[in-house]
Amino acid sequence: MSLLTLEGVTASYGASQALFGMDLTLSEGEAVAMMGRNGMGKTTTVRAICRMLPAQGRLVFDGHDLTRLASHRAAQLGIGLVPEGRRCFRDLTVEENLVVAARRGHWDLSRVAGLFPRLAERRGQRASTLSGGEQQMLAIGRALMTNPRLLILDEATEGLAPLIRAEIWAAIARLKTETGLSLLVIDKSLKELKGVADRAVLVARGQVAWAGAMDALDAETSARHVGV
Ligand code: ATP
Repeated sequence: MSLLTLEGVTASYGASQALFGMDLTLSEGEAVAMMGRNGMGKTTTVRAICRMLPAQGRLVFDGHDLTRLASHRAAQLGIGLVPEGRRCFRDLTVEENLVVAARRGHWDLSRVAGLFPRLAERRGQRASTLSGGEQQMLAIGRALMTNPRLLILDEATEGLAPLIRAEIWAAIARLKTETGLSLLVIDKSLKELKGVADRAVLVARGQVAWAGAMDALDAETSARHVGV
């Protein structure tokens, strides 16, 4: 059954339209990659799903019409977001950042520490003193602490050093294989996405340019629409 459905979704920033009929379906336990060049509407799609931006069209999560919900209700329904640019509470410690997000369920401090042992080592440290990669781990940990049914990762490895990137991709793969969490992963790295995603959606000018099984996405199609 489809957990998330978008059909013909449009959204604008003032007079400037960014989504021109976006379609997306994601089933329970599925991992979908969303790819595309800069400025094509990936983050805007995420904002529409998380109710951070008004949108028109059909947006349904777990049977609920998202267009009628406030953003905190979308989170309560089980949509967890790791936003572009991380956004942790800089003056709180690692542990405080995790605890303020906590909701009852599978994910707790010890399970997040198991996924990211570095966070356990730094649990008393302020978030502002963490490296970029550690802050990204904390952002993922925070989202997991809400015990989401769908985790959305927006450019989770952007700008990070290769070793840290590899650690984060390994964690995302574990989320998929060990917990069966539904994932929407926005990124440009075809190679890494092939390791975690079941399907891919390529976005251009605020709508879907290509959609299909991850295995069916070849380098040429990816290069045409993503450009990496
Ligand atoms: P990127 O990887 O660069 O974030 P993206 O595919 O996520 O790219 P969006 O951020 O969704 O793209 O941007 C889609 C369009 O909306 C672009 O034309 C962008 O300039 C515009 N846009 C995004 N955010 C805003 C904003 N806050 N105000 C006005 N226009 C915006």
